[in-house]
Amino acid sequence: MEAVVEATDLEKRYGETTALSGASVSVEPGEVFSLIGPNGAGKTTLVRALTGTTEPDGGRARILGESPSAVDRGRLGVLPQEFSPPARLSARELLVYYAGLYDDARDPDDVLADVGLVDAGDTWYEDLSGGQQRRVCVGSALVNDPDLLFLDEPTTGIDPAGRRTVWRLIEDLADGGTTVVLTTHDMAEAERLADRVGLLADGTIVAQGTPEALVRDHGGSSRLTVETAADPDVFADLEYAVERPDRGRGRTVDDAVVVRDIDPAAIGAVVDYLEARDIGYTGLSWAEPDLEDVYLTLADVAERERTDRLERGADESDLARAGETA
Ligand code: ADP
Repeated sequence: MEAVVEATDLEKRYGETTALSGASVSVEPGEVFSLIGPNGAGKTTLVRALTGTTEPDGGRARILGESPSAVDRGRLGVLPQEFSPPARLSARELLVYYAGLYDDARDPDDVLADVGLVDAGDTWYEDLSGGQQRRVCVGSALVNDPDLLFLDEPTTGIDPAGRRTVWRLIEDLADGGTTVVLTTHDMAEAERLADRVGLLADGTIVAQGTPEALVRDHGGSSRLTVETAADPDVFADLEYAVERPDRGRGRTVDDAVVVRDIDPAAIGAVVDYLEARDIGYTGLSWAEPDLEDVYLTLADVAERERTDRLERGADESDLARAGETA
């Protein structure tokens, strides 16, 4: 089956900044593909290259079998990260306006219902809450009933109930055959919605796969978190590895320890250990690794590699300068 989205070795530079350095992605028809990655990783640039709002310096982008700038806009829905519709139009008027841009569009009232805003249809955009505004924006990307939908952080700023409305909407769209490319910082969102996830770091996809495969390959082991100020050393006689939790980028906390690779059946032994040695604790929680762990691990690796590269670059330019002055 021909891919609906095909990015091959995309490159994009802005002056000294490399936004994309060989990013490749392929999305099949009807898939929900989620792009995750730290700020500045290149997610928005990749979406822009794939939607034809920026021209890559190298590589090839194709969507719906064509170059992004040539594609029939009626088949494409795009919700950019920054999107500010006219403030003095009501939610309904805005959807009517966006629907009017297409030859063939959905009934704006149906779209209002889809994004859970029937009651707010007559409210001016500027008077809606931040979350309601974002839902109008999501609706505006749907009015043309697109075959391919790009959503750049669709639920940022939306309250939990509104977020679930948008999630259900994306699930319904995917069930109906719409291909969705979704960028998000919310790992629960990616885990729930995405068939596959691609992690972008430094302008390139460093890992991709189903959430389950990524968790299996990069999520690490199950863990028991013990809320305690006690030093990890006091667990030296326990038969499991115990350490401070890693919050990514080398940051740890000092009010908890994690017990690695432990089966839930062995939690009682840890409790006995704590009691026998009179180690104070305020809570215990056991968890399987999830996409958040994958993200923290891989983003951390990418960050370290970037720092190493920058340091090597600095060393090399020092050497070059030393060579020039010698
Ligand atoms: P993300 O969406 O993952 O946060 P972006 O694609 O927005 O990342 O940005 C990637 C890098 O490119 C960043 O360093 C950003 O500052 C830079 N960048 C993005 N757009 C522009 C632009 N229009 N002009 C200059 N630099 C840009």
